[in-house]
Amino acid sequence: MNSSNLPIEPIQEWCEAESPIFIVGPCSAESREQVMSTAAGIAKMNRKVIFRAGIWKPRTRPGSFEGIGDMGLEWLKEVKETYGFMTATEVANAQHVEACLEAGIDVFWIGARTTVNPFSVQEIADSLNGVDVPVFVKNPIHPDLMLWIGAIERIAGAGIKKLGVIHRGFQYHNNFPYRNLPNWDMTIELRRQFPELPIICDVSHISGDPKLIPQIAQRAMDLSMSGLLIETHVDPTVALSDAKQQVTPAQLIEIIDNLEIREEGTDDPAYRSELAKLRSKINDIDESLIRTLSERMKVVEEIGSHKKTMGITPFQVERWRQIYSQYEEWGKTMGLEQDFITKLGQLIHEQSIDIQERVMNDKTS
Ligand code: PEP
Ligand code: MN
Repeated sequence: MNSSNLPIEPIQEWCEAESPIFIVGPCSAESREQVMSTAAGIAKMNRKVIFRAGIWKPRTRPGSFEGIGDMGLEWLKEVKETYGFMTATEVANAQHVEACLEAGIDVFWIGARTTVNPFSVQEIADSLNGVDVPVFVKNPIHPDLMLWIGAIERIAGAGIKKLGVIHRGFQYHNNFPYRNLPNWDMTIELRRQFPELPIICDVSHISGDPKLIPQIAQRAMDLSMSGLLIETHVDPTVALSDAKQQVTPAQLIEIIDNLEIREEGTDDPAYRSELAKLRSKINDIDESLIRTLSERMKVVEEIGSHKKTMGITPFQVERWRQIYSQYEEWGKTMGLEQDFITKLGQLIHEQSIDIQERVMNDKTS
């Protein structure tokens, strides 16, 4: 697939927060006191962050706290004036955009429940036309990369150049142990296609539980993401939304202090030449892996034709059981993780069945 041709302004050029960028603050603005005291706790970090708070909350069921509304924008303004943090909130329609622009909110994000709906995203995009404001697009609730890309393109189409994305995890049939399962592969594929697009990891909505945050946050940093979103509340036990996943400012500081933040690259010549040597070795190995796979699939085609002559099905459960345990055995003796080897085995096997089906259904031979 093509690489990006979106005109994206590097985040370092517009973001006043230090890198890696932390987007922190409560799930929802609840009261002036709650917003200001949360910000005061965060300010103890002595680090420039983006201060977030939801003003209009997309709740699953009516009757839950649906956000404080426009009055909360004033509190965000006060946070900015007092602590100098850029402020951020979620916009889900044109009225939200208008109210935020009027209040001078610095950064907008589009929530997961909005990204799923192209009409809503287009409405937001239209209301942003000609405006120079940073926008982050959260992933849609379910793992649909095209829908995520579509939303990014709609916002970019409105002329927004200060553009980023937020990975907040996805809803699968079984998300255990997380609230929303992270899909690191999808974020890597998104970054392959749009290398300039900064990506923030929303560790709070992924984990759903402060205990799981450090591990997810470290993974995001190890994948050289641009920053983290961590919901922070002065007293999470009384939070009106997402009480279970928010951390206190003191916990936030501890989480950030314990992160191992590594550089994505360096100019050190000795390091670079060793890396180049190792990468060239990897490239050679990968080439021979692919060559071997291609040879394997040719044999699979022969097996398909052979079975076809006798009207035998592509799949035999006994054979698959045998291959499966053989893979496990080889994996064990060659020091590969079982989970990896079974996934790989399943992938190869599925492809082999496909090939045999194709051979058997080919009416020309
Ligand atoms: C939020 O950030 O508070 C929020 C509602 O997130 P999401 O859209 O990812 O569910
Ligand atoms: Mn939340």
